[in-house]
Amino acid sequence: MRRNGAAVTILWLIVWTVENLPTLTAQNRGVGTFILNEADFVMPASEASQYSHLIIEPMLFDCVDDTSEPGGLRRRIQEVLKRIEDHRLSYAPTPIYYPDGSLNIISKVEHIEAKTYLFLFVPAARDMQKSLSTAEFKYLILIAFAHEVIHIEQTGRYRTDSRKEAGKEEAIAWGKTVVEIIRPLIAQKKSVPPYFVELSNLFAKAKNNSGAEAWIKLWTN
Ligand SMILES: [Zn+2]
Repeated sequence: MRRNGAAVTILWLIVWTVENLPTLTAQNRGVGTFILNEADFVMPASEASQYSHLIIEPMLFDCVDDTSEPGGLRRRIQEVLKRIEDHRLSYAPTPIYYPDGSLNIISKVEHIEAKTYLFLFVPAARDMQKSLSTAEFKYLILIAFAHEVIHIEQTGRYRTDSRKEAGKEEAIAWGKTVVEIIRPLIAQKKSVPPYFVELSNLFAKAKNNSGAEAWIKLWTN
């Protein structure tokens, strides 16, 4: 465990940001899959929480109530809220960018010991909010959360133990996201961010095949 000086584990961060997280025992502290530095905090942890409360969470609740949204999207958002509520999923809005330096990663599911965490990288979300219309930003967030539920659905079904295998799993998850969520939104003329329209076109070019080399390449870094 590293908690010397400015280094803290992601689990400590969760303790600070998630109100209803059960108290961690000494034993399972410090098992986070990535370490972050307080120096990476772009805002106070409380501000990240607040941003989630005020901006992100209402979008999720509204989506579940809005029967005009595609079923594949609503079902996933409903699932994410249910899992957070019954503690199968620990939701953690964090005040950092995703640690690999990618500024555009909004969310990520991580399995840490027996628990599953859903991280929202608030600084990245806030940046995107500035560059998109209100409706586009809403669908960015909804698609991101629904995409993470697809990863949860896929848990244990595919190998993710190497970068190559993880890339294949990501390719399958994004293929599903395009077919079951992005395209139904586009068909309904919803304001999907241009990036996702582009993604849908790329998947069509790959003949809608998640196993296509060119498609997998997009998701392997
Ligand atoms: Zn993914």
